[in-house]
Amino acid sequence: MSINLLQTELKYLKGVGPIRSELLANELQFKTFFDLLYYFPYRYIDRTQIHLINTIQDVNVSIQLQGTVVSTETVGKGRAMRFVAKLQDSTGQIDLVWFQGIKWIKDKIQMNQTYLVYGKPTRYGRTFNITHPEIEKVEPEITKVARFQAVYSSTEKLNQAGLNSKGFNQLMSHLIPMVFELIPENLSSIIIRKHHFISHSDAIRQIHFPQSAQQVIEAQNRLKYEDFFFIQMQLLGQKVNRHQRIKGIVFDRVGEIFNQFYQKYLPFSLTNAQKRVIKEIRSDFASGHQMNRLLQGDVGSGKTMVALLCMLIALDNKFQTALMAPTEILAYQHFQTISKLLSEMSVEVRLLTGSTPNAQRKEYLEDLASGRIDILIGTHALIEPTVVFNNLGFVVIDEQHRFGVEQRAKLWKKGKYIPHILVMTATPIPRTMAMTLYGDLDYSVIDELPPGRKDIQTFLYSDSKRIALFGFIRRQIAEGRQVYVVFPLINESETLDLKDLQDGYDGISREFPRPQYFISIVHGQMKAKDKEIEMARFKRGETHILIATTVIEVGVDVPNATVMVIENAERFGLSQLHQLRGRVGRGGNQSYCILMAGNKLSAEAKARLEIMVQTNDGFKIAEADLKLRGPGDIQGTQQSGILALSIADLVKDEAWLKLARKDAEDILSADPNLQNPINAPISQHIISRYKGKSNWSIVS
Ligand code: ADP
Ligand code: MG
Repeated sequence: MSINLLQTELKYLKGVGPIRSELLANELQFKTFFDLLYYFPYRYIDRTQIHLINTIQDVNVSIQLQGTVVSTETVGKGRAMRFVAKLQDSTGQIDLVWFQGIKWIKDKIQMNQTYLVYGKPTRYGRTFNITHPEIEKVEPEITKVARFQAVYSSTEKLNQAGLNSKGFNQLMSHLIPMVFELIPENLSSIIIRKHHFISHSDAIRQIHFPQSAQQVIEAQNRLKYEDFFFIQMQLLGQKVNRHQRIKGIVFDRVGEIFNQFYQKYLPFSLTNAQKRVIKEIRSDFASGHQMNRLLQGDVGSGKTMVALLCMLIALDNKFQTALMAPTEILAYQHFQTISKLLSEMSVEVRLLTGSTPNAQRKEYLEDLASGRIDILIGTHALIEPTVVFNNLGFVVIDEQHRFGVEQRAKLWKKGKYIPHILVMTATPIPRTMAMTLYGDLDYSVIDELPPGRKDIQTFLYSDSKRIALFGFIRRQIAEGRQVYVVFPLINESETLDLKDLQDGYDGISREFPRPQYFISIVHGQMKAKDKEIEMARFKRGETHILIATTVIEVGVDVPNATVMVIENAERFGLSQLHQLRGRVGRGGNQSYCILMAGNKLSAEAKARLEIMVQTNDGFKIAEADLKLRGPGDIQGTQQSGILALSIADLVKDEAWLKLARKDAEDILSADPNLQNPINAPISQHIISRYKGKSNWSIVS
């Protein structure tokens, strides 16, 4: 019953009607009372604080005054015309000034009427005035109810239809009294008591119509928690659901293939972190549940070897495995690395990408279906419907941020069984973001780099140091090292980007002429085969300098390269810069990253580049990135509806996220299908609010 009223279409709300309801649907996707109820203010005007006119100071903040209008006049002519009203309180007078809408305000303002005035005072000679203040008549009874006034954001079109912040205030003043009694509780009494929350309906009322700052905080706390809690219930619910529905393939033995490789061909000993993660994955393999695990590790932490060893376990259990990379270069490189490591063993490894010739492709597909191929490495091409495995048991997705959730799901349909899945991130993402973006996955982290790595030294240079830079590159090459020079994708048009790259290439070729120096060039418009050839020449040490666009961003591994020059570094995001820097420092030699940037940098760009100079720690960089840019701009989050938080902030409200996640875990582990009556408010809320909208699986 109550739910039904909340589902009422907005056009039936007093003050809305057909035109505004259509606008609300188009501009904000609001359709029902429920939707409007959850449109929260982004700030408040403190109507409890009233300044005295003689205490106004020359600080740049908006304040509230209360006084009587004692005179009005229109002064000046034409464009200089303005309307001035003198406001007087018990301590003095101030001018309120309008340049626009003069006719309207002239009709509206009444002499000897008391007003609440809100605005920013500016000094004008020895006095102050306020231009275009907000004003509101003070009725005697309202003055007694000192309160906070909610401010809502609006859009241009809504504004034109009278739905500015005040307009929303009005709608809320109709809506909330009408539905207040019917707003159901949505958390269990246990949680409410545990966190000393106010009720859900009080939170809704107080967020829109608080009586004090304290009430705002109470409401925000509870609603932030709800934001996180219901996302976590969704994510963890998916996990529970998978566990219940899907039987995992059991890999119960570690056999000959793994052991042979481990004992004979492993080129180094594993770090403790690598060993720990392999153990975590092995225990998933043996658990009877289908694994869905996120592996985080800094650039160069050795995620590939972890993946390979786990792939060998799958082979030992007579299952095929696949490794999927985001670019052809990376897929090719993985193919090379892995084929080489396994060259003495009888394991069949193949590479399948968009540019695999048709005849070969046909042969591979047959061998895959018959089970002759053990390990298939490739790009997106792997998830095309034509690619059919005999018995796919384990899939590794490298550098995940370029793969969507739906693509992951496609992989599930590849075999008779749903394979175990390991997702590896390209660069670390902050824990809070991992918890939301990948909250349905289990989590492993390699928090240790292989021994003997020297910290990469990073410098921020402007163009005036270019000569010095060339000298430095010459010395490094003289010592036998190699150098990357990376250009950003600057223009929308690829031809223009190519021109930048070509100019850069010409400049460097002049400085580093043949036959003393050899230069490779790699960019997005080259054919895959040509890219491979150029990369291979650089990898073999035949060329000294590799000039590239960001195609080399992820994963490329040339240990002898020690210098990474990044042109127009200010155009790259932090995680990209970190990825690029991670291309050097892979061998035993001291490595360097030179960030070339213009002289006129924005404060944000400067902050970003400074972080790069200060630290090599990818986890720290990821945290800083999140703080600088906010979650919306971080790679991979844009398409993710999951970050559609209505009030919580991933950076500032981390503490609430952790509590909410923990509570959701506890609830679902005790009551996976939310059947305990104590959890009824939660399941009711999920049904009424979210069902049909997204991927809810706990309640059917
Ligand atoms: P990422 O985690 O960035 O994918 P890689 O898997 O490419 O890192 O590994 C980076 C480099 O470190 C590779 O050259 C790899 O062979 C090497 N490596 C990985 N694990 C170890 C280890 N335990 N000891 C020494 N070198 C290692
Ligand atoms: Mg890698």
